[in-house]
Amino acid sequence: MVLYNTLTKRKESLKIETGAPIKMYQCGPTVYNFIHIGNARPLCVFDSLRRYLMYLGHDVIFAKNFTDIDDKILDKANDLGVAWQAIAEDYIKEYYIDARGLGELPPTHEPRATGHIPGMLKIVKKLLKNNFAYTCDGSVYMRAKKVPDYGRLSGKILEDLQAGARVAINENKEDELDFVLWKAAKPGEPYWESEWGNGRPGWHIECTAMIDNIFGDTIDIHCGGQDLIFPHHENELAQYVAYCNKPLARYWIHNGFVTVDSEKMAKSVGNFFTVRQVADEFGYLPIRLMSLQAHYRSPINYSIDVMKQNLSALQRLSNCVCLLTDTRNKIADTEGAEQPCEELETLKNKFLQELDDDFNTAGALGVLFDLVKQINLRLTNTQSYDINYVVAATKIMQDFLFILGLDLSNFSNQSACEDEQVQELVRQREIARASLNFQEADRIRDNLQNMGICLEDTQDGVKIKRDPGGVLS
Ligand SMILES: [Zn+2]
Repeated sequence: MVLYNTLTKRKESLKIETGAPIKMYQCGPTVYNFIHIGNARPLCVFDSLRRYLMYLGHDVIFAKNFTDIDDKILDKANDLGVAWQAIAEDYIKEYYIDARGLGELPPTHEPRATGHIPGMLKIVKKLLKNNFAYTCDGSVYMRAKKVPDYGRLSGKILEDLQAGARVAINENKEDELDFVLWKAAKPGEPYWESEWGNGRPGWHIECTAMIDNIFGDTIDIHCGGQDLIFPHHENELAQYVAYCNKPLARYWIHNGFVTVDSEKMAKSVGNFFTVRQVADEFGYLPIRLMSLQAHYRSPINYSIDVMKQNLSALQRLSNCVCLLTDTRNKIADTEGAEQPCEELETLKNKFLQELDDDFNTAGALGVLFDLVKQINLRLTNTQSYDINYVVAATKIMQDFLFILGLDLSNFSNQSACEDEQVQELVRQREIARASLNFQEADRIRDNLQNMGICLEDTQDGVKIKRDPGGVLS
């Protein structure tokens, strides 16, 4: 597999030591608000990359942090008159709802910045000792230009950086490019004690320390949005090199931007959408599909039309999966149906080729929908299906959907298959009620509710209603 490495500015083959786990880190959210649809993209893309590496047989250790102390969190807490911890706690909960909704597999590690302060202090202390850092008015700054190759990751030339740098008021730095490792506490702000005075960590040192604490060595893949390359990732890298003279990561992978109606998303323009807003209207799956619809380094565009098109694409996919499941269920004996099927193998190889070439999920999605076409052609309106084909197609479909993270089980749809399933569940619930097993009856009703189906018990029997909060209403 080749991946484009931002550090070397070229596609490189991903080399992993045999049997060694893949160490992967993604910069997570600053928890002061709901995540927006721009944030959904790295979440879905890198979750799929992780799934693909797992599919290839690798053990992936995936860490993604929460920045749970930050000016934005403090500002929001002040505005609302609540504790800053409560803001962080609330938005971590909201984040989980969106992340699971978008189909992200739970990360192996989910460190919170405030849980790793001692590790940050340890690194800052060493940077001061080896002269890469200096104290100034109770804060500690990094001497950026002292780090060999500073600017290499972002591809920025130091002179350009210097010209673009702006010094905030009250910052007595030695050089414009120096950045803060430890911020002196202002009156009334939360703080941790340190040798240099009370304060809190700078944003960049958080990730470096969490990576160091969790992995203890150079990691394989560091990923995040393009907007993080400079200064955040450049500075994470500089800190680690200065701390232990080793690279922070072997491959730096960055995703492109999300625009809204072809414009840059901004609160001031009024085209700012949270994942929750969009999911409330369309469900999470069309957002996941959108996030994978272009090559991850290209920009993608969000619009209502894209969501509608994706809903109908998902409907087609869901119908095909139902057709496949129905056909598969009709087969009592699958013994001997283990032969590879040539036309399916061709599609599978194409799918893997797309992903092996710099993780082209757009190409892989194209192959998925070719598979849908092929299955529909082979299995619609026919009684004479090839058992071997059905078994192999089921397996390949499962693999494709797993890698792309498209979990159709919660996708409400009007397909015949689902209606059959609903009718059967309703029938089972009636049986349970008739035998006074209300616990079982309630369990079935809850299951149906999860599928977006509401039951109403009337004098004329049970009425089935689509849940108004469901994705297709
Ligand atoms: Zn980071």
